[in-house]
Amino acid sequence: MTASIAEISNRLLSWYDRHARDLPWRALPGEPAPDPYCVWLSEVMLQQTTVAAVKPYFAKFLARWPDVEALAAAPDDEVMAAWAGLGYYSRARNLVKAARAVADLGGFPRTEAQLQELPGLGAYTAAAVAAIAFGARAVVVDANVERVVARLFAIGEVLPGARKAIRQRADAITPDKRAGDFAQAMMDLGSGICTARAPKCLLCPLAVGCEARAAGEPERYPVKPARKAKPERIGTAWWIERDGHVLLVQRPGEGMLGGMRALPDDGWTARADGSGKPPLSGEWRDCGAVRHTFTHAHLTLHVRALVDPVRAGEFGGEWWSLDKLDDAGLPTLFAKAARLALAAR
Ligand code: SF4
Repeated sequence: MTASIAEISNRLLSWYDRHARDLPWRALPGEPAPDPYCVWLSEVMLQQTTVAAVKPYFAKFLARWPDVEALAAAPDDEVMAAWAGLGYYSRARNLVKAARAVADLGGFPRTEAQLQELPGLGAYTAAAVAAIAFGARAVVVDANVERVVARLFAIGEVLPGARKAIRQRADAITPDKRAGDFAQAMMDLGSGICTARAPKCLLCPLAVGCEARAAGEPERYPVKPARKAKPERIGTAWWIERDGHVLLVQRPGEGMLGGMRALPDDGWTARADGSGKPPLSGEWRDCGAVRHTFTHAHLTLHVRALVDPVRAGEFGGEWWSLDKLDDAGLPTLFAKAARLALAAR
């Protein structure tokens, strides 16, 4: 038996009233709407990242840049360094651009369409900010919501083609009132109850009428395409050390880990292996290799070290004190490479 549209939203909202997660960026049911800056910052951080990983970064950003004007005034490299470790660095670049656009406008725009005009704000983030911060009726579909809706209606089409049908169904069950709470309730249900593996259907407020549950195979939805194996890449990072300092460079603005501080490397990319050719002549020492997985490739990054090079000035990077390496804001890949080089000294 399929539940009516009104039944679905009513049952979900009353479940949310009792079980909403208390998160630092959130207003609980009945409280005034949260600050759009907090909603936007948290939603950008949460893309591709878990709540547990985001919490300390959210607290750090809020302490350092308590409002959008403060973030707009921050130097790019400080924001990139503060973001280090959170991954998907284009988010941080766009974060600063969007903060500056909002500051120029004198505040966050309130509609989904206007929000989508800000740099880096895709359909999902614009809908989430419009619904949660401004109470607009917006259809918010992230991976959690996608999973819940695909199961509720047993949508058998394969992703990504199924997204159109999922969105239509999500639109149909989104209520006119409390759209922000509804969106957050769907997120909570997807992350805690209707999980990718072993969904807890016995605890689910939407169990009655859930078509995937009735069919006895909720994990079948959403139907995913066959996975392609990720390519394996090989690269080398160069640890160049002199007088208690290591040479760091800034990666080009676009591309993988763009704009981040890093060890120099041999030019590996998601599409090609590095040359492996040392940039300077000298007695290079092998320190081992680190493994890292990106969205599009696995990487084995060899780390080779050279101490007291003769012509390192050609790099044009910065000599960073080893005592303060933790403050360099190295992304996870290069932080792992640095640890390896330090352990091999
Ligand atoms: Fe997901 Fe099970 Fe709830 Fe259906 S009943 S929405 S499959 S947790």
